[in-house]
Amino acid sequence: MPRSVEECVIVLAERGPGTKLVAGGTDLLPQLKAGMLKTGCVVDLSGVADLRHLAVANGSGLRIGAAVTARALERDARIQKTYPAISESGALVGSLQVRNLATLGGNLCNAAPSADMAPPIIALDADAVIAGPKGSRRVPFDSFFTGVRRTVLAPDEMLVEIAVPNPGPHSGGNYRRHTPRRELDIAVVGVASQLTLLNGVCAKARIALAAVAPTPLRATAAERLLEGHRITPELIERAAIAAIEAARPISDQRGSADFRRHLVRVLTQRTLTTALARASA
Ligand SMILES: Cc1cc2nc3c(=O)[nH]c(=O)nc-3n(C[C@H](O)[C@H](O)[C@H](O)COP(=O)(O)OP(=O)(O)OC[C@H]3O[C@@H](n4cnc5c(N)ncnc54)[C@H](O)[C@@H]3O)c2cc1C
Repeated sequence: MPRSVEECVIVLAERGPGTKLVAGGTDLLPQLKAGMLKTGCVVDLSGVADLRHLAVANGSGLRIGAAVTARALERDARIQKTYPAISESGALVGSLQVRNLATLGGNLCNAAPSADMAPPIIALDADAVIAGPKGSRRVPFDSFFTGVRRTVLAPDEMLVEIAVPNPGPHSGGNYRRHTPRRELDIAVVGVASQLTLLNGVCAKARIALAAVAPTPLRATAAERLLEGHRITPELIERAAIAAIEAARPISDQRGSADFRRHLVRVLTQRTLTTALARASA
């Protein structure tokens, strides 16, 4: 079992494409059992301490090891205070048992369109720190996802860390999702909003959507409506309507495309309202 990131990278190179990393296993094992995925070799990350660090510094922001669990993110008081949308998304994953295993890195690398922890990470302008045979590289999370269950990671690369800049003073964020059931259900739509104010005016706005396209994505037209303006309930409503433009939802057994567009509007309105209250507090 590898004990360091360097050893993992060597194993990935030696074993070749088709080798799968396993962190909590809550996505990978059901996929293997269901025959959705075949692999000749599974590399267990549980012995790699470098992937479990959680460092919060005012200057450099938040550094989350890829194998930090949803439960740890849900419970950490420093994250609840400065990065509440991350804690909120962690708290919504599965059940308590699932959250004790499920990792942030696994959620992001599995790249489901409905991944709950992706929208806050995108809305906070976080970077993926990636290790591979040629060394380390960084990719902003708003270009990390390339399709359903696809990312920029090459077969011989792994996610090491999620680097989240400090949003700074007068900032606030919020994540919400809609599910028909309260627990153990996946998002029909998820929305994260993140705002930073300067002298009462919106200096930066980020809105990220899940489950409305093959990848999580930003609602950039809605963000532009907010930036440079004093945010009022009327402006929030206009931004919520504009956010619908970014969505490319499908109709499936979980909800129609029209219902998903309606949810984008409602959840954008609610997350922006909460983010504004937090930024103003
Ligand atoms: C009952 C149940 C309920 C669930 N509910 C939710 C929910 O509400 N919301 C939600 O978003 N998800 C949910 N999930 C899905 C899952 O729990 C999460 O996506 C979880 O965060 C995955 O993390 P993991 O550590 O278990 O990933 P794993 O299963 O270990 O890995 C997932 C994928 O990521 C890859 N991977 C893992 N770590 C790395 C790394 N460091 N570098 C590169 N690749 C890596 C693996 O190879 C695999 O392809 C649920 C799952 C179950 C079984």
